[in-house]
Amino acid sequence: MDFELSKEQKMIKKEMSNFCKKELNKDYVHWMDEHVDFPPDELWQKFVDIGFFKYSIPEEYGGENLGIVDTMIAFEEICKASMSVGLALGVTTGFGTRFISELGNKEQKDQYLPLIAEGKLKTCMALTEPSGGTDILGSVKTEAEEKSDRWVVNGEKVFITGAHKSDYMMTFCKTEKDQKPTRSLSVLMIPSHLKGISITRIPKISCHHCDSVGITFNNVDVPKEYLIGTRGNGWYESLTVLNPERIGCAIMGVGLISAAYEDAFEYAKQRHAFGGPISRFQILQHYLADMYINLENSRNLTYKAAWLCDKGLPYHFEATMAKLVSSEGALHAGRYGAEIMGGYGICSEYPMQRYLRDAYQLQFSPISNEMSKNMLMQFQGLPKSWS
Ligand SMILES: Cc1cc2nc3c(=O)[nH]c(=O)nc-3n(C[C@H](O)[C@H](O)[C@H](O)COP(=O)(O)OP(=O)(O)OC[C@H]3O[C@@H](n4cnc5c(N)ncnc54)[C@H](O)[C@@H]3O)c2cc1C
Repeated sequence: MDFELSKEQKMIKKEMSNFCKKELNKDYVHWMDEHVDFPPDELWQKFVDIGFFKYSIPEEYGGENLGIVDTMIAFEEICKASMSVGLALGVTTGFGTRFISELGNKEQKDQYLPLIAEGKLKTCMALTEPSGGTDILGSVKTEAEEKSDRWVVNGEKVFITGAHKSDYMMTFCKTEKDQKPTRSLSVLMIPSHLKGISITRIPKISCHHCDSVGITFNNVDVPKEYLIGTRGNGWYESLTVLNPERIGCAIMGVGLISAAYEDAFEYAKQRHAFGGPISRFQILQHYLADMYINLENSRNLTYKAAWLCDKGLPYHFEATMAKLVSSEGALHAGRYGAEIMGGYGICSEYPMQRYLRDAYQLQFSPISNEMSKNMLMQFQGLPKSWS
C-alpha cells in the first residue's frame, strides 16, 4: 500500500492551491456568493489559461488524459475555496467531457472534445424531474418523439445545475414508450438555444454562485445527430458517468470540511474568553477533533474510490460510502465550525455560514444519503429495500 502522492500529483496540488489562493480568495468568493449565479467569464477564462479543462480529455483531442485521482486532487483545492465553483466546473468536466468521451461517436468526439478542452463549451446534465429524483426511473416523463430527421422533446426537468449557462444539456428522455423503464431512455445532447426551451430559477440556500434551475421543453426540435450513445440504452450506458459523479460530490465535501476545519481552528486560537483562547476548552477541541477525523475518513474513502475507478476495478460501493461520509462530515463541519465561532459563525462576512449552507446540498445530491444506505446494504447482499 502506498498513500503517498506522486511527484506529478504533488505538483497538481501545489499549483491548484496557489491558483486558488490568488484567484479564489475569500473576499472574491464572498462577492460571488452575494452577486452572481455562476462563476463569471473572467474566472472561467483563468481556469482555461491554466489548462484545467484539458485534464480529463483524451490526448488525441487536445487533453492531458489525467485519471480521476489526479483530477480529484485539483478539485479538492477548488472546492476548499468554493464548492460552487467546483460544481460549476464539474458539470462541464464531469458531464460534458465524460458523456462525450464515454458514449459519443467519432464525429461527436472530434467536434466537441477539443472545444471543451479549450474551455469554449459549457454543459450540464438534465436527469431529475419534478416528480422525484430518487425513484428516477419511475419519474422520467420527458419524451423525445421521433419525427423523420429529428426528435421532438416535451417535458420538464428540475434542479439542473448550470443549465442557465450551458451550451448543451445532456438530457435523459423517454424514447421507447413500450419498453421497461431501464430500456426506455436515451440521452440527447440538446443545444440550449433551441426554440421551445425555457429556464426557471430555483432560489435555494446552497451554492449561491452556481444555480440549479428548472427547464421546460415545449415541442423542441432536436436534430437526430444529437443522440449520445445507443438509443434506448441511455440508462445503462450513462452509469459510467453517474457513478463517478458520486466521487466528484464526495470531493466537494472533502474540500468543504478542510476549509471549515482550518477556519474554525484558527478562530479558536485567536478568540479569547475567560482570560485565554477558547481553543483551550476541551469541548471545542473535541468538535475540532471530530471535524479532523471526518476529513481524514472522507478523504481516504474518496481517493480510494477514485483509485479503484482509475484501475478499472469495481468502485460503486466505495464511491457511495465516500459521498455519504463526506456529505455528513461536511454538514457536521459547518454546524460545529459555526458553533466554535459563536455568533460570527452565522454572519455573512465569514465563510462558515456558506460552508454550512453549501453542505446541505450534498445530503441529497446526486443521491440522497438514505438511498445511499439502501444501496450499500444491497451491495452487501441484503434484500433490495426499495421498489
Ligand atoms: C442543488 C441541487 C442540484 C442538483 N443538480 C442536479 C443536476 O445537475 N442534474 C440532475 O439531473 N439532478 C440534479 N439534482 C437533483 C438531485 O439528484 C435530486 O434532488 C435527488 O436525486 C433527490 O431527489 P428529490 O429531491 O426529488 O427527492 P425525493 O426523491 O423526492 O426524496 C425525498 C426523500 O425521500 C427519501 N426516499 C426516497 N426513496 C427512498 C427509499 N427507497 N428509501 C429511503 N428513503 C427514500 C429520500 O432519501 C429523501 O429523503 C440536484 C438537486 C439539488 C437540490
